[in-house]
This record gives sequence, structure tokens and C-alpha cells, in this order.
Amino acid sequence: MQEAIEKIKEAHHIVLLTHVDPDADTLGSALGMYHSLKKMGKRANVINTTQIPYNLDFLPDIQKIKKELPKRYDLMISFDCGSFDRLGIEKKEAFLINIDHHRSNTLYGDIDIVDPEAAATAEVVYALLEEGALPIPKESAISLYTALVDDTGFFKYESVKAGTFDLAKKLCERGASPEWVARMLTMREPLSKLRLLPLVLQTLTLHLNAKVASLRLTQQMLAQTGGTKEMGEEALNMARNLATVEVALLLRQEEDGRIKVSMRSKERVDVGKIAVAFGGGGHKRAAGFTSELHDFDEVLERLLDAIKKEIE
Ligand code: 5GP
Ligand code: MN
Repeated sequence: MQEAIEKIKEAHHIVLLTHVDPDADTLGSALGMYHSLKKMGKRANVINTTQIPYNLDFLPDIQKIKKELPKRYDLMISFDCGSFDRLGIEKKEAFLINIDHHRSNTLYGDIDIVDPEAAATAEVVYALLEEGALPIPKESAISLYTALVDDTGFFKYESVKAGTFDLAKKLCERGASPEWVARMLTMREPLSKLRLLPLVLQTLTLHLNAKVASLRLTQQMLAQTGGTKEMGEEALNMARNLATVEVALLLRQEEDGRIKVSMRSKERVDVGKIAVAFGGGGHKRAAGFTSELHDFDEVLERLLDAIKKEIE
């Protein structure tokens, strides 16, 4: 951390990298750092090469996120990204600090600050800002708090420890409003999502003694409802919440026909381990990968084989 703080203090123009198909943790962590750097008078750009989820539009300065790297910069920091290929950039062109909490992180940075015990990458960012006595303005607090509540399912997951609430308290004291963030995140659903979810739920199939549930989301469903690809996650959580289910799977057809798999488990199966075996990554209870295969049944069959071994 000390080395990273020195690098940050020396740098003039810093690029903050977030992972493809971004979530609240990657964007909130990067924006949390962005507002701190701005307060220090530095130049900074948050980069994301893919689509930003509709419900994160309230994060301070999210509209300033760029798709392309600036011409010149002297430091890169990546947030919540387990492997270099998920950054959506061609190659590493500057000193890179990798800040994350995925156990599967491949340690691709020049400095890697990876804490698998942290409930969110935002927790690691906060620790870094505090350690370096760097500014933590209200905009940073809002961004980091949003990342924290989203990555813990509002303090529901086993990653949540007593210290998680200490962090939440500090972020609230610095200006994050729990009611406002929760309302912004969860109470502004577009109708398209409620049209899409029943289509996805209708594909629900149970396997291995009803311990595994699978769902499918096709490009056709998105076209029919106007929904966006991240909207299936809620159906996935509903499938995991079934009483008998330990592992829930969502197989999503991408625009290029490949199949993106999202996995959630309840208390025993390490889906992160399974995802790594299929070339992806993640956490024990939430992980994913993208398959080169285009056939739902084929992907499902291979997955069930792997899950069967873990469940038994
Ligand atoms: P989701 O299923 O919501 O896309 O992701 C769940 C978790 O798994 C997240 O922590 C995410 O970063 C990780 N994850 C999902 N897909 C991939 C992947 O293709 N590669 C890696 N390394 N991690 C992934
Ligand atoms: Mn995260």
C-alpha cells in the first residue's frame, strides 16, 4: 500500500480502469478514487469500454466515464478486475496498480493490492485512501458506499463482517445516504425489466435432485422486451433462493453467439473454483465465465458434470 500511495502522489495524470460489463463495485471504486484524486488537483479519467448499467447513472460524475484511453498518462489503476483480459484494453502501457478482492485474481499489476477477505473492492480502496491520508470527499463516500452495498447484497453475504459496518458508518458520516442510494439502485426499474424477467424465469429447469437450477436468456428475449443483458441477474437470484437449490446458473447468449455463464451458490459449493476451471473467475458464491461454445445444452451439460463433482 505504501508503494502504491507513493506512486499515486507522484503521478500527474491517472487512468482508472474498470472491468467489462461493469457492476457497482468496479465503477463505485474507480469513482471513489477519481473524486479523491480530483480533490488532490490531479488529472484523472475513469475508463469503461462497455455499457454502463442504467441504475448506476446517479454515481457522481459517471457521465464523464470515457470509452477510450487518453493519449498521455503516467499511471494506471484497475478496480475489481480479476484478470487483465477483463479490462477491455489491448496492452499495459504504463505502471499498473491492481486493486481487487477476487481470490482468483491473477496478480497482473506492477503492484497488486488484492484482499480476498474484503467484502468489496471499495473496502480496499477506502483502506488505501485512509492509509495515505488522501482526501475522501462526499462524492467518494457515495461511490464507495454504493459499491459496498451492491457487492454484499445489502449486507447479506458471508463476506460481511463486523468491520463492514464500521466502513458503512464512516461512509455515511462522510455523506452517503443509505435510503437515497438504495432507492437509486433498486427503485427505478424500467418496464422492460419486468417484461424480460418472466421470459427468463419460464426457462427455469431443475437438475441434480433440484439442487441446481438453470436459466436461459437469449438475444431474442432482449429484442422482444427492450431489456438489457444485466437485467437477468434478478431472475438468477430468485432461482438461487429456491429452498432446494444450492447452485443457480444463468446462461446468457451474447451478441456474438457465445454464452456467458453466471453462477450463484448458497452455502457450500465454491463456484469460483468451477469458473476458474472454465477460464473465468469470481468468488465462492458468485462467479462467471464466457464460453466459446454457442449451444446452450452443450454448455449446460459440461457445467453440470463439474457441479455434480462439487455437490457430492
Ligand atoms: P457475474 O456472474 O455477475 O457476471 O459475475 C459474478 C462474479 O464473477 C464477479 O465477481 C465477476 O467479477 C466474476 N466474473 C464473472 N465473469 C467472469 C469472467 O469471465 N472472468 C473472471 N475472471 N471473472 C468473472
Ligand atoms: Mn467486487
